[in-house]
Amino acid sequence: MAVFPLAPGSTIAILGGGQLGRMLSLAAARLGFDVLILSPEAGGGAGRVSAHTLAAPYDDPEALRTLAGIASVATFEFENVPAAVVEALQALGVEVAPGPLPLAVAQDRVDEKTFLNASGAPTVAFAAIDTLADLRNGIDRLGAPALLKTRREGYDGKGQTWVENHADIEAAYDRIGRAPAILEARADFVRELSVIAARGRDGDVVAYPAGENHHEAGILRRTRAPAVLSPATREQAETIAARILTRLDYVGVIGVELFEMKDGHLLVNEIAPRVHNSGHWTLDGCEVDQFEQHIRAIAGWPLGPVTPLAQVEMENLIGAEVEAWPKLAAEAEARLWLYGKGEAREGRKMGHVNRLSPLKG
Ligand code: AMP
Repeated sequence: MAVFPLAPGSTIAILGGGQLGRMLSLAAARLGFDVLILSPEAGGGAGRVSAHTLAAPYDDPEALRTLAGIASVATFEFENVPAAVVEALQALGVEVAPGPLPLAVAQDRVDEKTFLNASGAPTVAFAAIDTLADLRNGIDRLGAPALLKTRREGYDGKGQTWVENHADIEAAYDRIGRAPAILEARADFVRELSVIAARGRDGDVVAYPAGENHHEAGILRRTRAPAVLSPATREQAETIAARILTRLDYVGVIGVELFEMKDGHLLVNEIAPRVHNSGHWTLDGCEVDQFEQHIRAIAGWPLGPVTPLAQVEMENLIGAEVEAWPKLAAEAEARLWLYGKGEAREGRKMGHVNRLSPLKG
């Protein structure tokens, strides 16, 4: 059983072996923890900076028993961890944070939006789609174009398609493989923002200043933070994040993706129950970054300050862009983060660069 605050020297397990796991592991090491990485792929970027690695499927009972023998606290770097794995770990006496509720909510877009609205976190209007008739009714109600997304397992713009007009309904349903889906009204937003926030085991909540996100081909290209926001919008962003965290009885860092509408009000696009790509700017821009914050929260330590120290432009290095590393390494105001991944496949996040400038205002 875990005793909180978790003492340095304890081991924290992370499910997932990619860049988020790697940066969590580095942060944990700085606070004196060891990390165990459980991932189906051996030799990933996270495993190579961690004390222990287990290369096994997430639902491998033997691997979970081994994990429970070494680590008393577990977390994850991606939201599609099967609920059964979390339950198995809990049955073995491992504290899993964030718990099963945030995972369940984030794994299903209909449940997610239903939860958000019930929590006082507004979203676009939506309809659950199980049949072609649902889709026709949904388009009648929400208008076209509207965005059709699979309920589960979509990321980086995958598993979604615009229904352009009535004539496109059947073809659009085919494009997402007729899977259970959500139809979303089009958000006529002026900007995409995100708030990275955290909740500790004592219920304390902190929120980093919001960042402004730019996507290309469905993938986050860059985040500029802190974003310039009106005081009312800033307060709204923080209130939304706090409501979600409290209602989920959440422990750890969460990413809340937002649409800023013309009149300044915010709608939640989605939540990620984990550290988030749009929070990488905090690594060089804040007193305590999102990775250390997550480790502090799950370890039952006090949360750290979220005060920004610099203006940051975070740019993802995607695929072959990482080959520019010698040039980036020579840039004075650029902080380079490389994920130790082998092959620079197209669309693969290989690293990011944080470019710093003095804080505005
Ligand atoms: P998601 O996978 O839900 O994060 O969506 C990926 C991107 O699609 C978002 O970052 C937005 O740029 C866009 N998007 C998602 N939902 C909507 C919507 N309801 N209306 C307009 N654009 C959207």
